[in-house]
Amino acid sequence: MKIALVAHDEKKSELLEWIAKHEAALAKTKMYGTGTTGGLIKERFPSFDVTPLKSGPLGGDQQIGGLIAEKELEGLIFFIDPLSPHPHDVDIKALLRLAILYDIPFACNAATADYFVTAIDWANNGK
Ligand code: PGA
Repeated sequence: MKIALVAHDEKKSELLEWIAKHEAALAKTKMYGTGTTGGLIKERFPSFDVTPLKSGPLGGDQQIGGLIAEKELEGLIFFIDPLSPHPHDVDIKALLRLAILYDIPFACNAATADYFVTAIDWANNGK
């Protein structure tokens, strides 16, 4: 299974904790992340197959949108911070628009992302 992960600054630690909680299920997943998010995942989980792209505000969200349009991704975990305004709000909207358009499952909070894990586990391990 191939998924992308993005977390805004105040949500990065929450994403890392979500990954830690589901480490076994995510271990065989091919991951793409925006620059900082992807770098933090790689640092904390060195055995994971993570490709960091550009930082979100520098085009990383759009790179992930491109992967969705090319049908390279099967899921998006996007921990948006609802309490901070984002100067690159248009990129966030564009990424979510493409996820909806291409019917890619996406989760924007931990509770929804938890539902993903069953599907990821099934896709990776046939369970
Ligand atoms: P970052 O980008 O992982 O490089 O911080 C995330 C974002 O703000 O979209």
